[in-house]
Amino acid sequence: MAPAVSAEVAAPDADTLAASVEAAVVGWRRDLHEHPELGNREHRTSALVAGHLRALGLDDVRTGIAHTGVTAVLRGGLPGPRLALRADMDALPVTERTGLPFASKATAQFRGETVGVMHACGHDAHTAILMGVAQALASVREQLPGEVLFIFQPAEEGPPEGEDGGALMMLKEGIFERFKPDAVMGLHVFSTLRAGELGYRAGPLMAASDRFRIVVKGRQTHGSRPWGGVDPIVAAADIIGSAQHIVSRQMDLSRQPVVVSFGAIKGGIRYNIIPDEVELIGTIRTFDEGMRQDVFKRLIDIATNVAAAHGATVDAQVPDQDGNPVTSNDPALSARMRPSLEAVAGAGKVIAMPLNMGAEDFSEYALRVPGFFFFVGATPVDRDPRTAPSNHSPEFFLDESALALGTRAMLRLSLDFLGQP
Ligand SMILES: [Zn+2]
Ligand SMILES: [Zn+2]
Repeated sequence: MAPAVSAEVAAPDADTLAASVEAAVVGWRRDLHEHPELGNREHRTSALVAGHLRALGLDDVRTGIAHTGVTAVLRGGLPGPRLALRADMDALPVTERTGLPFASKATAQFRGETVGVMHACGHDAHTAILMGVAQALASVREQLPGEVLFIFQPAEEGPPEGEDGGALMMLKEGIFERFKPDAVMGLHVFSTLRAGELGYRAGPLMAASDRFRIVVKGRQTHGSRPWGGVDPIVAAADIIGSAQHIVSRQMDLSRQPVVVSFGAIKGGIRYNIIPDEVELIGTIRTFDEGMRQDVFKRLIDIATNVAAAHGATVDAQVPDQDGNPVTSNDPALSARMRPSLEAVAGAGKVIAMPLNMGAEDFSEYALRVPGFFFFVGATPVDRDPRTAPSNHSPEFFLDESALALGTRAMLRLSLDFLGQP
């Protein structure tokens, strides 16, 4: 007597599924690597992604979200939870120096200049992996519990000046209203881990990142007669010096680290003219929302009061635009997913990550639903990850085995999450 068919269908297996798409993922990633596009300009990339998702027969394939974003839904044949998986698609204004046969020769306009364009952060790998995961899960959709939202996001590195973009814009355009997930997951290839390693951290993982702009306003005068005006250069110098004390004297660094860095100073034109104003721009990195708001307030207070002591005034925009919140992994979800990562990478290959002062706009999704974001080692095993070219370097190099490992990890996490309502 034949047993019931449903009982005989093997549960989908992440390793088998990953193997079925491995060659395709490598092919997509090489193609994307050779044809990188800057944030909000991912036209070719999003057309490739959307065409693939349509060919898989996914539901509700939407394009043009937050400029070039793409989403699609896979509905499994069985009831279950709702999971969102996110990949970012944008490249960077970096001229590639890897010497790879599929190295980028692309150029684009960036801040009025012609620049090289390169997938120097590895988002080509993220996009290719998620395309593979979509194909693998679609191939077993009848046996799949729950639903999966695939998010292909533009402009993770930030939109061009004067434009909106990225995760927050996709959310503002309603992707979590149309599909409210129970969890969101994403990955990032990372140079400080070796190929074969996965890394994660429960709780805060990557920093909140906020830009600031402070314009110190004095009164222009001859360099020989400083008393005839108000010198914004010395006021700016004192503001920069005093701002260092926010971190060293005013923040409780035993709780979380804080960074305040000035990245540019602009003011003056000639050796014997004290200018009208000086512009200071920089970045703030924090891991705690209360400390983040406290740094904003203290930097404004220091700028305002130090300038006043010089008889100058300031226009302090702290922050000067929406920053990235802290990227935090939901503790309960992290604890639940750790065995999945260990099953994929093997004993000793799941690395407990230190806090990362870099930022990720995956944080926006993880603010709204429980999130899990993990790292996939990119550096070949025969190189030292401490000295290997880092993400954003023109020599950033991805060991291609990371594509298979990332695909296996994402599939395993998805199947384990969807299978355990
Ligand atoms: Zn990056
Ligand atoms: Zn990145």
